[in-house]
Amino acid sequence: MNLDDPVQFVKGVGPRRAELLDKSGLHTLEDLLYHLPFRYDDRRRISAVRDASAGEEATFIGSISSLREIPMRRRGGRAMLEAVLSSDGGRLGLVWFHQAAFFRKKIATAPRWLVHGRVEVSRRGGLQIVHPEIEPIEDAEGDDDGGLARIVPVYSKPTDFPLSAMRVVVERAVDGVAAEATSVVPASVRDRLGLEPLEQALRYVHAPPAEVDADDLAGFATPAHRTLIFEELFALQIGISLRRASREAESGIALADGADRVDAFLASLPFEPTGAQRRVIAEIAADMARSVPMNRLVHGDVGSGKTVVAFAAALQAVASGYQVAVMAPTELLAEQHLTTMQPWADAHGISLELLSGTLRGAEQKRVRRDLLGGLVDMVVGTHALVQGSTEFARLGLAIVDEQHRFGVMQRATLRGSSADTLLLSATPIPRTLSLTLYGDLDVSFLDEMPAGRKPVTTKVVRRASRARLYDRMATAMADGTQCYIVYPLVEESEKIDLADATSMADELQTGVFKEFRVGLVHGRMKPDQKDAVMRRFKDGELHCLVATTVIEVGIDVPNATIMVIEHAERFGLAQLHQLRGRVGRGGGDSFCCLVADEAQSTDSMERLRVMEQTGDGFEIAEADLRLRGPGEYLGTRQSGAPAFRAANLVRDVELLEVARTEAGAWLEHDPALALPESVELKRVIERRWGEKLRLAEVG
Ligand code: ADP
Ligand code: MG
Repeated sequence: MNLDDPVQFVKGVGPRRAELLDKSGLHTLEDLLYHLPFRYDDRRRISAVRDASAGEEATFIGSISSLREIPMRRRGGRAMLEAVLSSDGGRLGLVWFHQAAFFRKKIATAPRWLVHGRVEVSRRGGLQIVHPEIEPIEDAEGDDDGGLARIVPVYSKPTDFPLSAMRVVVERAVDGVAAEATSVVPASVRDRLGLEPLEQALRYVHAPPAEVDADDLAGFATPAHRTLIFEELFALQIGISLRRASREAESGIALADGADRVDAFLASLPFEPTGAQRRVIAEIAADMARSVPMNRLVHGDVGSGKTVVAFAAALQAVASGYQVAVMAPTELLAEQHLTTMQPWADAHGISLELLSGTLRGAEQKRVRRDLLGGLVDMVVGTHALVQGSTEFARLGLAIVDEQHRFGVMQRATLRGSSADTLLLSATPIPRTLSLTLYGDLDVSFLDEMPAGRKPVTTKVVRRASRARLYDRMATAMADGTQCYIVYPLVEESEKIDLADATSMADELQTGVFKEFRVGLVHGRMKPDQKDAVMRRFKDGELHCLVATTVIEVGIDVPNATIMVIEHAERFGLAQLHQLRGRVGRGGGDSFCCLVADEAQSTDSMERLRVMEQTGDGFEIAEADLRLRGPGEYLGTRQSGAPAFRAANLVRDVELLEVARTEAGAWLEHDPALALPESVELKRVIERRWGEKLRLAEVG
């Protein structure tokens, strides 16, 4: 078998499973080989069923009885399965929301079972495990756990793929191709750092020996794990360094004029720019003046005043004789920018146009023609409109607002032109992370809020006290303000207790808010439908907007003063912070209410309390990172960063530093990756980072 073979080459993977794996991004045997367990079940200890306690993850042995399939009205007739695990007088509920029939049949095949999972309190107050893992015990008599008590890898997997099958599939792939894996780390570096041979490390992490230290394993700190993590971080750091180097070697446009106009612009504002705004504007100005293409990211919390910074940069570009493109993630945000910037542009004799999908065809054509003819200095539009087929006479600066909404691909295509690029991101990212994620960019931190902002009063409340909350909202709406209610999901999920935005919007409109107009916007709507609802809210036609997280980005409705977030515990803190940033934009007092489910653990309540205590996005980002890990930042949606297979940027900061140092040293030694020791490294880098690096030119 070869690394590049499709997953279907694994015995037991037919076309259907192959498709499921494909959809989860597992296409080849190599993908399976590097699909590492995200945790391990330590089943070396078996607990007594009667000692089960809520919140603990444990392994039990017992018999399974009292099976009941219960059809669920809310889930289109699919059934759930309930059962009871019992042993020595102890009883524990088991629940499956998927594949009820499958598990019912399966349970009939053996008298006793090994059951593993997290124990929680059921809706009726007893103890239960939802979606337990079960393994048959053939011997009906003894309590002997045979070969079952061991350490078991747990893999992420497609929903309809049984975990046991996933384990077998990965195991077969590892057996088939582990020997083919080649290290990207040059042998001399590997030896010096004491890394393990790659094949050995891979086999170890997929099937740790029984005597392994449980803490090392749980912390991914075994030498095998560290080897794999280093492999990945080293390649990443090499890629980032090369990308930066190749960019520095490109020739760009020096946009050096207009300092006096920027000063005049800042002086004309009705407020004093913050120190951070002045500093970041200066950083950008100096960068634009260089003849190397700028690639700069401005990190600024919601409301930190990025628009002023962006316009200052635009002024400099236009004063230097070039055009500017401003790209927003939605039409509505593009229009919002137009409204803000139009008076500024007028004051400086800049011709500014909106390139919008709602423009009539002829009008769109005219704008494009004028851009190509150089009659328009500055255009605002969505990414698709501005980037697509639009041509410019002399584009000097591209500004991408809410950069975190775009993936890595968009970032890459922007790089194609020699124009300066300014990325604005409202997701504060801890510095350690941003160094890595955006290590190929220059970063400016807009880390100061305009004076006089009133903090948004934030409260975590239990669901039971929602009635009072609705009263408060009704009073506020009767006074003429508006509010948001945000839900994490669009449709009812597996969990029966989860109210969803659609049904709640109905319920509120016909119930407690019947005197008001309630709107609904969610992620499954078409962009123009979404925009239309948002617009009605912005225009004050709707009093209350029920939404899923689509409103997270940039929408500015100063009249909205209350933000209610349902199932707040399901959101990351950074995301809650973004959502909260939608209120507190006008003069009045604003209020953010985080509604948590009753059964939340103290941990997740503590996490939400961070929101009550601080309004500082960077502080919140650090806390989030500490509490939840970097997933939020590494998902492609947020950052477009490469997905990591072994590394975790919070846990592995130390190794990341080592990798940076080693990568720097290696590139000094072999800048074009031309030495025999760099062969594998070069192959991987070229494949992952593409031709953009133009490796040959670097040397
Ligand atoms: P964001 O960084 O979220 O894009 P905006 O640029 O939309 O923030 O600015 C938010 C609001 O703050 C706007 O109404 C803007 O006019 C105002 N603003 C920007 N800078 C300052 C400042 N230095 N002092 C007071 N208000 C400011
Ligand atoms: Mg903004």
